[in-house]
Amino acid sequence: MSANMILHNYLNGEWRASRAAQTLDVINPATAEVLGKVPLSPAQEVDETARTAHAAYQEWRRVPPGDRIQYLFKLKVLLEKNLDDLAATITMECGKTFGEAKAEMQRAIENVEIACGIPMMMQGDLLEDIASGIDELMIRQPVGVCAAIVPFNFPGMIAFWFFPYAIACGNTYIIKPSEKVPMTLQKVFHLVEQTGLPKGVMNLVNGAKETVDAMLDHPLIRAISFVGSTPVARYIYSRATANGKRAQCQGGARNPIIVLPDADMKMTTNIAADSAFGCAGQRCLAGSMTITIGESRKVFTEAIAEVAAARVVGYGLDTGVEMGPVISPESKKRVEGLIAQGVSEGAKVLIDGRNAKIPNYEAGNFIRPTILQDVDPRSPLARTEFFGPVMTLMHMETIDDAIAFINSGQYGNMACVFTSSGAAARKFRYEAEVGNIGINLGVAAPMAYFPFSGWKESFFGDLHAQGKHGVEFFTQTKVVVERWPKEWSRKF
Ligand code: NAD
Repeated sequence: MSANMILHNYLNGEWRASRAAQTLDVINPATAEVLGKVPLSPAQEVDETARTAHAAYQEWRRVPPGDRIQYLFKLKVLLEKNLDDLAATITMECGKTFGEAKAEMQRAIENVEIACGIPMMMQGDLLEDIASGIDELMIRQPVGVCAAIVPFNFPGMIAFWFFPYAIACGNTYIIKPSEKVPMTLQKVFHLVEQTGLPKGVMNLVNGAKETVDAMLDHPLIRAISFVGSTPVARYIYSRATANGKRAQCQGGARNPIIVLPDADMKMTTNIAADSAFGCAGQRCLAGSMTITIGESRKVFTEAIAEVAAARVVGYGLDTGVEMGPVISPESKKRVEGLIAQGVSEGAKVLIDGRNAKIPNYEAGNFIRPTILQDVDPRSPLARTEFFGPVMTLMHMETIDDAIAFINSGQYGNMACVFTSSGAAARKFRYEAEVGNIGINLGVAAPMAYFPFSGWKESFFGDLHAQGKHGVEFFTQTKVVVERWPKEWSRKF
């Protein structure tokens, strides 16, 4: 890595310098060091990439599924061998701790493993004698060229929610990394190259809005997977589907954690703190608000304040650090502005992480864990995604109040309940209108073989990322109805 290094795009099995007129600096959020430059690739380069991927598709779809997955087995080995290097790159460009970065890549690898099951998962259906002597079968065929547009907060993992399934199903692929954190996928593509995957099957195009718009409008790109903020998810879904593409677009979130009085308070506090402050709160599954019910209020409030204040904040590559910075100075300003807004609206700052100065990293975008108490559930702030290390605390009298609050919100990514009552847990699971539920868990991240099930404004589309949903999204069904009259049989 060096400040003047301009990242390349990868197409047709080659690394190519972009002809972009503009580049952006990639900046380490803990040190403010410039790590390199990312080109904002113009529409013409998206066109070249799409044509390359389309040409490769004609051959790739004919490669037997059992042969296609051999490249994924190789990729898994290479990813494991290079895990530390990939994790360090994630920490340097995104800020999360080395441990969090390693866990992220492990989740990425799980998706590669599951996609290796494509010869089973891609199978179709057949029913004989739908009418006398007539059979009907359903075949799954790939869609064509597919593409992903991914966010900054998981520089490695999120692209893996999509491409292993896509290419295993016989599609070819284009990834546009977040322009804030493009280095990790650059390294992943160097590993992809080492697998010997045929040219044009996997392609990388760096850029931002202009690049994305060119992808959304390109007739050869048949499916778009997006993960990012809700306004952009809505925009991408509208434009992609208006252009006749399939789209699955995951958006933002504001995830509540409900603490019932019968919860194991020590376990709950530790898990709720990890959920709110892990990855500096920059997770779409961050439990960014906790709602205490009944008598849980006092004991939870005291315990969480202690746990939050004790969290070690610093550079994620340093030993013992438990929380890194937020992604940019703008993000720090925005999050600190939201904290100030809460205070002006009457909330109390139980723990104030603003104006954090970390010795040796004074230029970093650090905010220490912050807890805002008594946030008004009716205020817009109670519904605003912070995407920083801030927990807002609210109190309600009953679980019904909490469920009604959750169900009246615009997001539906995750909700968690802490309780030792099976009946309360079941009620919560049954009634909460969100796509991912945690019971005595603070980050209910679906494993690779389950769909990442956001609801409401946390997701636009119908088929989610990962697992069987991924296989459905990356295949189109073809139904064949066939008659072979027995009078036509020769006598053998
Ligand atoms: P973002 O929406 O700003 O950017 C995401 C991607 O979209 C980037 O690649 C970016 O280049 C592109 N983009 C941004 N603005 C665009 C525009 N106007 N037109 C076209 N493309 C555009 O999101 P971010 O800040 O990178 O990521 C944080 C957000 O992602 C949070 O809201 C978080 O909740 C969400 N997120 C959601 C999930 C999920 O599974 N639901 C997972 C991770 C992150």
